[in-house]
Amino acid sequence: MGITLQTLKNRIRQTLDAVTLSPEQTGAETAYIMRYILNLDDVAVLSDPDREIPDTLEKQVDEILKCRVERRVPIQYLVSKAWFYGLELFVTPEVLIPRPETELLVDQALALATPSGCRRFLDIGTGSGAIALAVASRLPEGCHVVATDVSSGALRVAGHNARNLGLSGKVVFLEGSLFEPVEGDVFDVILSNPPYIDPAQRDTLAPEVREHEPALALFAPEDALHFYREIANRAGQHLNPGGWVIVELGMGLAEAARNCFSGAGFSTVRIEPDYAGIERMLTARL
Ligand code: SAM
Ligand code: GLN
Repeated sequence: MGITLQTLKNRIRQTLDAVTLSPEQTGAETAYIMRYILNLDDVAVLSDPDREIPDTLEKQVDEILKCRVERRVPIQYLVSKAWFYGLELFVTPEVLIPRPETELLVDQALALATPSGCRRFLDIGTGSGAIALAVASRLPEGCHVVATDVSSGALRVAGHNARNLGLSGKVVFLEGSLFEPVEGDVFDVILSNPPYIDPAQRDTLAPEVREHEPALALFAPEDALHFYREIANRAGQHLNPGGWVIVELGMGLAEAARNCFSGAGFSTVRIEPDYAGIERMLTARL
């Protein structure tokens, strides 16, 4: 006889507790397993706690819990799914798992998008396509998004997400470093959540991040400011007059990143905190 749904859910929670940082994270990760492995939501447990779970499913869940706890694989890679800005994205270890604080960047980009205002958006280092697709899903008619990445593996995942979400017609994906794939092209808004971790900080990262997320997505070459300097110095050639740059900031980088943009001739440079009070978003206008 198989075990009950309630018993399995309790086992999932207790096992995950060993590696999660808060009860909220345990709840969220449990929900991922319930939804994507058992095809159930919380209502199912409440309404039918004694339902029997087939042995094969129980084994599948145990296998996932083992990878999660022993190898510290992020839950999103184990179920190949992550949520971002209300979109369900396909993710593999070739892409960074989109972070909730990055949703603020999307909010700021959308605030600039009006049919008569900003119409052309560029997302540099698109990874899973999270930012580009979230922006594209809410843009008014007549707006366009171009998204780039140096990683062909990431672009395959992003393209897959665009097709799954019915957004292929609204985003063009191009491969190459920084502005290389958009030579001669201009935009109204340039967006980026670039790699911003100093390689010297590698040992301070959680094992989930350090061992499993792509190094190319995490670490800035040389030092943490690399991509802010590059974007600040080169964005001018790719922006319409009055155009904007919005970039996500690593913790503690706000003032140094501000100097990169002011020094490159951007007028207003605004910095805003995330929900945890960390200075997270930099918006600069040419
Ligand atoms: N935009 C996604 C998000 O917010 O979830 C992914 C951001 S991840 C921090 C940075 C991305 O930049 C990775 O997908 C990585 O492959 C890409 N990348 C790294 N170096 C790059 C470069 N020189 N030019 C363009 N993209 C680069
Ligand atoms: N926000 C990610 C982290 O803290 C890093 C992503 C990045 O470098 N842009 O692990």
